[in-house]
Amino acid sequence: MPHNHNQPPARYWHPVADGRIQCDVCPRDCKLHEGQRGACFVRMREHDEMVLTTYGRSSGFCIDPIEKKPRNHYFPGSSVLSFGTAG
Ligand code: SF4
Repeated sequence: MPHNHNQPPARYWHPVADGRIQCDVCPRDCKLHEGQRGACFVRMREHDEMVLTTYGRSSGFCIDPIEKKPRNHYFPGSSVLSFGTAG
């Protein structure tokens, strides 16, 4: 697949005052400059948007209610990022 172009825009992020954009998916709250990847290496800032770099490659990528997860008392009502890649 072509890399880093026409990646699908991701949800759950917002701009912050210093010009970075902050991911809202998990408690790491990554704040990204243009071209930076988040700590998970799944989400990346490109052209002032958050994109998913594993789209089309991961075996599964979804936002589930956190109650589905074993850590169901961690952040009740919040979202949890789930993904797997080949292997
Ligand atoms: S680690 Fe990934 S999902 Fe978590 S806040 Fe950073 S970019 Fe978002």
